[in-house]
Formats: sequence, structure tokens, C-alpha cells
Amino acid sequence: MEKTSKIYIAGHRGMVGSAILRQLEANGHTNIITRTSSELDLRNQEAVQEFFETEKPDYVFLAAAKVGGIHANNTFRAEFLYDNLMIEANIIHAAHLSGVKKLMFLGSSCIYPKMAPQPLKEEYLLTGPLEPTNEPYAIAKIAGIKLCESYRDQYGSNFISVMPTNLYGYNDNYDLQNSHVLPALIRKIHEAKDNGAPTVTVWGTGSPKREFLFADDLAAACVYLMDNYDGRELVNIGTGEDVSIKELALLIKDVIGYEGELEFDTSKPDGTPRKLMDVSKLHSLGFKHKIELREGIALAYADFKEKYVTA
Ligand code: GDP
Repeated sequence: MEKTSKIYIAGHRGMVGSAILRQLEANGHTNIITRTSSELDLRNQEAVQEFFETEKPDYVFLAAAKVGGIHANNTFRAEFLYDNLMIEANIIHAAHLSGVKKLMFLGSSCIYPKMAPQPLKEEYLLTGPLEPTNEPYAIAKIAGIKLCESYRDQYGSNFISVMPTNLYGYNDNYDLQNSHVLPALIRKIHEAKDNGAPTVTVWGTGSPKREFLFADDLAAACVYLMDNYDGRELVNIGTGEDVSIKELALLIKDVIGYEGELEFDTSKPDGTPRKLMDVSKLHSLGFKHKIELREGIALAYADFKEKYVTA
């Protein structure tokens, strides 16, 4: 990308899109375009096509999506499938029609088969059944990847797909019902400490393992791959290291300084037993993450206190 290339970030208000925006600005890009969801409803085909015809972006980061944790995915199954399919299909097709030079689509580690061998290699996609709690979301994301591949195969479009692992960072969602585990535990443990509560409830058994990447590291990887990768194959983006949910809760307890106990609510689902990315391809392309888990939790916790905790 040139410094003056016109770059559209779809989803710039979200945790991922806002991190990509900061990264591009830090790199000196001066021609970035964004639209809020009230300005442009990405589920509306006509509106999206008109936007692309008018703006004619050179590069597109497709970081807009309906996302959420295990409970949200499992509850709003229709919206997770419909909204995500519409957003992807509209943007990818409009990017094709308006002659975008390059587009990056963001998939997710949760779209690999539930029982795939670990660590997850890129070629494991579509080799087995999906995790039922997030199957609608996964099907939509797989469709996005196949759209990118198919426009590349049929029209030679330079549309690439990357697969981020579980993310956390600035501007995360701290809703207790609908968020992902890391922000949910930051909030629960913070509130337990504040209220002097003796225990904190963690969903499931605590034994599933997850890998966590700070969103600014993901953004740096996305910008790096936009500049340096033109392949048809997916590229996993993660740290290559995972922790159990129990270990994660203990680490967050430690960062926050909470001395109470953890309680495991096994009536809540565990989801996929393990989701660890094989990041050898990312590393061989020349990128490695910088922010380790403890440091990232401290950064996210500071952001949480600043934005979400009212006096
Ligand atoms: P997943 O990675 O798609 O399964 O989504 P989540 O980030 O929502 O959940 C990861 C794991 O953390 C699951 O095993 C959850 O049961 C567990 N977990 C423990 N406590 C919580 C919590 O308070 N919220 C969420 N979302 N998950 C939790």
C-alpha cells in the first residue's frame, strides 16, 4: 500500500477495525475511509454497491462482523448467520465490481472442525464437523473465505483471507452474557474485588484451552500481510501458545489483585476443547506477535477501567 492509497476499513469501530485504523495511521497512511453502521448498513446490498462505486477504494480490510462469545453465538443463531453472510457477500462482490486492488477478509479460529488435530493448520478447514454452539457463525465465515477464493479463481481478484485466533484488547465487549471469556472474566473479577465477593463464577469446567492474541498484534499482522502476502491459502494469526480457562482466570485474578476463589459452573457449555493455531506459516512470512498475555491483560484491564467503570 502507498501512503496515499485509498484504504477502506469495514468495521472501524470494532475492536479489530479500530486497531487496524490505529496501525495504518501510525504507519503514515493518509487516505483511510470509514463509515459507521448508521451511515452505511453493510447488510444492504444497494447501499454497499453505491458506497464502493462512489468511493472506489484501492484496499479493503473486511473487519466488520457480528461477533460474540459462546452464549451469544448459540442464542442469536439466525443473526450470526444472516448478518455475516450479507456483510461479506455485499462487500466482496462490490469490491469485485468496483475494481478494488486487494481485499483482506478476516476469518476466525472457531471455524476449524471441532475435533481437528492441534495445533490447527490452515489445511484443516472443512475436514470435519463444526462446534455446534457457533456453527452458524462458522458457516458464514467459511462462506466469506470461499467467496475470496472463488473471485480469485474466476476473476483473478487479489482477495486474501486470514484466520485470527481469539482476540482481546482495547474497545472490547464487556457484556456479561454476550462477550468472550477474557473480557467477561476481567469484568467479573474486577466487580468481585470491588464488592468484596468471596467467589467468582467461571463458566464450564475450566479445562478447555484457548489461545489469546492482543488485537493490536493482530492489526500489525493484517497490515503486514496486506503489504507482503498475495497467496490463495489462508494464513493463521495467533501466538502459537494456549492456556486453560482456569489458568486464564488465575492470571486475570493475579493482574487485578483479587484474592477470592474461582467457582466452576458446569451447567454452562465448554465449547471446543482446544483451539490452538499453528502459526508456522505466519512466522515464515516474517511476522511474530509482540504482546504477551499478562502484559496484554494489564493493558486491556486499564482500558476497561477507563471506559467502562463509572465512579
Ligand atoms: P469460544 O472460544 O467460542 O468457546 O467462546 P468464549 O470465549 O465465549 O468461551 C471460551 C471458554 O470460556 C468456554 O469454555 C466458556 O465456557 C468459558 N468461560 C468461562 N467463563 C466464561 C464467561 O464468563 N464468559 C464466556 N463467554 N465464556 C466463559
